Amino acid sequence: MLISEDVKLDYSDVLIRPKRSTLKTRASVDIERRYCFRNSKREWSGVPIMAANMDTVGTFKMHEALAQFHVTTCIAKALNTEEDWWKIAYKEKGREYIAIMAGISDEEMNRVVEVWNSTRMSFIGIDVANGYTIAVVDALKKLRDKLPQATIVCGNVVTADMTAELILAGADIVKVGVGPGSVCTTRVKTGIGYPQLSAVIECADAAHGLGGHIIADGGCNNSGDVVKAFAAGADFVMIGGMLAGHEECAGELVFEDDNPEPIGMQFYGMASETAMEKHGKLITNEYRGSEGKTVTVPYRGPVKPTIVDILSGLRSACTYVGASNLKQLSKCTTFVRVNNTHNTIYGV
Ligand code: 5GP
Repeated sequence: MLISEDVKLDYSDVLIRPKRSTLKTRASVDIERRYCFRNSKREWSGVPIMAANMDTVGTFKMHEALAQFHVTTCIAKALNTEEDWWKIAYKEKGREYIAIMAGISDEEMNRVVEVWNSTRMSFIGIDVANGYTIAVVDALKKLRDKLPQATIVCGNVVTADMTAELILAGADIVKVGVGPGSVCTTRVKTGIGYPQLSAVIECADAAHGLGGHIIADGGCNNSGDVVKAFAAGADFVMIGGMLAGHEECAGELVFEDDNPEPIGMQFYGMASETAMEKHGKLITNEYRGSEGKTVTVPYRGPVKPTIVDILSGLRSACTYVGASNLKQLSKCTTFVRVNNTHNTIYGV
């Protein structure tokens, strides 16, 4: 047994120090990025924020709403076989801003290959809770062999060594985050995890050294956390809880008494009992438990004001540190460590 004495930090452990800046307005800040991916050699440009591929958030309606802002939606796995929706999504609504993710079973991987072959969409991916297994690396190598020109996302991991391994095995973008999610219970159930800000800094460093990219996945409770993730070196930031509770989501609505207006919406983790029940993976044996929870979040109407708010927080942060575009943000950032006391409320 070893103990690492290095201090590791979460988003709530830091703030970003303001700096002198010559930028006059936040409107002049460019928050789009243009990337050329290491293995696929494909180019992509857009606002590098992604809606998580969770049942309630990763919907085709969410894609329709977010694509207008050049923000990507990772479609929930359960919708991977919805042939008609995929046709509409990639033909009419912007295939640059949509991704298909799956587990590593042959059936799921075959569907990803099929969808990519007919769409050439921006991102495909392998998404499993534990990206450290040899089975994940093998599935990734197979997928890369089948689709040399596809931009492949793979995760989740939290350390530099595994980030490098996945990139060398064929991933273009590594998904980083074990345990930080708003409806994740992995840390309390298993004791496994890694503070997310440090994970992002260390994995970004490893990925960038090899010409790869990373997604900071989970743990952003407000636009300030999204800013901190980019400032830490993330190329993309994936959010779930911040987008929950909107009209475009697929969560069950919650009503109070006779009031016809919904007051809340269900939001659940993809490893929660609710998700297992919905996907026929109910706990039927003694060794499989849930690692996610189900919560009710306030109903918030259309997602547009929320995404506008997140993007304006990002622009504003750039003006505070003198970054004329998102690419400069990380270079212009000095984090200061603070007591872990500020808010964690969605959207605040
Ligand atoms: P959030 O933005 O809500 O903090 O985090 C979203 C991320 O949480 C997702 O992209 C995914 O990586 C992770 N996640 C979603 N559902 C579960 C779950 O049930 N268990 C765990 N451990 N992580 C989850």
